[in-house]
Amino acid sequence: MRIVLFGAPGSGKGTQARRLMDAYASPQISTGDLLRAAVAAGSPLGQKAKAAMDAGKLVADDIVVGMIKERLTQKDTKYGFVLDGFPRSIKQAEALDRMLGEVEQPLNKAILLNVKFDNLVKRLTGRRTCKQCGHLYNVYFSPPKKDGVCDHDGGELLQRADDNEATITQRLKVYEEQTAPLVDYYKKQGKYVAVDGEGTMDEIFRRVEKVLP
Ligand code: ADP
Repeated sequence: MRIVLFGAPGSGKGTQARRLMDAYASPQISTGDLLRAAVAAGSPLGQKAKAAMDAGKLVADDIVVGMIKERLTQKDTKYGFVLDGFPRSIKQAEALDRMLGEVEQPLNKAILLNVKFDNLVKRLTGRRTCKQCGHLYNVYFSPPKKDGVCDHDGGELLQRADDNEATITQRLKVYEEQTAPLVDYYKKQGKYVAVDGEGTMDEIFRRVEKVLP
């Protein structure tokens, strides 16, 4: 399957994309993760991306499109992939269609995870990640037993640099302006499907599985 998972920041794309990868052996490709890795490595690309990410804006198209192009040439994507956080604008969606068109492997579906605005803000401000194992917590919905400490390995829990209120407001605005138009874009292609993104992770995963190609 070749699918795009999209939705507002905090809609749970990353969580569901990872579950799909585990269940269907299709790699999860997250531009957010790829960009954060580039920032952590201090590469020139990472340095360019960091300012935009910290401000809650989109990183330049040539950077993310280039990253995706390179990632899609790797062998593990041969039987499919789950794109998470890409495309995020009509321009990126067009670039993706061109790329996949060249290899005659068009996208099968674009799945939107629908979550109410108030829940998005809580999910984002409450999000914490274990520095060691990457396990995700939320101080409102799924807190660790001990504040700031991972239940699994005692690792320190960190907040993502862009999960502060000012940046979150900007990310949600960018989503409305630049990413939400993808709904119509994929509707016109007959590939769009929306899934209710509220409830437990298991419930949401079952809904996603129902609409898979
Ligand atoms: P979220 O969806 O919760 O905002 P991501 O990890 O997907 O988190 O993205 C974090 C940041 O990385 C975005 O705010 C943006 O600055 C940058 N980014 C990720 N994907 C893209 C993309 N496809 N195009 C441009 N910028 C991106």
